[in-house]
Amino acid sequence: MAGEMAPDEDAATLAEARAAAKTCRRCTLWRDATQTVFGEGPQDAEVVFVGEQPGDQEDIAGKPFVGPAGKLFDAILEEAGIERDKTYVTNAVKHFKFEPRGKRRIHSKPNAGEVRACRWWLDKELGFIRPKLAVALGATATLALAGKALPVTRMRGQTLAREDGLKVFLTVHPSFILRIREEADKQAERARFLADMRAVRKLMG
Ligand code: SF4
Repeated sequence: MAGEMAPDEDAATLAEARAAAKTCRRCTLWRDATQTVFGEGPQDAEVVFVGEQPGDQEDIAGKPFVGPAGKLFDAILEEAGIERDKTYVTNAVKHFKFEPRGKRRIHSKPNAGEVRACRWWLDKELGFIRPKLAVALGATATLALAGKALPVTRMRGQTLAREDGLKVFLTVHPSFILRIREEADKQAERARFLADMRAVRKLMG
């Protein structure tokens, strides 16, 4: 496959990969989005959290996990005793996919082809960071990390071992908690996610 790579995509470092991803055209999602939203965090991070794709606010800021789900995620990580500064956070797909509705941009789920195309960048991030553990936040991240679709709600809390040795912890995406309308259900789901993050903390050692 190496012969098919554009030279600027053949990055030798994480910083080079980040720079190369700015002009990625591996799928069509770059056309409508504002910019590539690459992962963020230290290269020696022990854990890499993988979400689905940038949301509206992330697309504008150019940073992952800065919108409402990111703020909730930060708060729960802190409660679980995980220092966000020591983690790397990224998305399975690096451009925002949406449907315009009036002035609003409504999130649209990336398809399997887009996830496969963008896995190029996720693999680069994981290859340079070499974390102990990756955490799949939701179905799209699970597809990207496991290479196949898995029933996340049934398998959450489980840890898979990939052929390359990377452990992958499965859970839901924090935006799932935000979409629950009933307050008691929302709090119950928040508590479950906190328990998952505490399990991640233990796996980090
Ligand atoms: S979504 Fe990923 S593969 Fe598609 S253009 Fe953006 S960076 Fe490239």
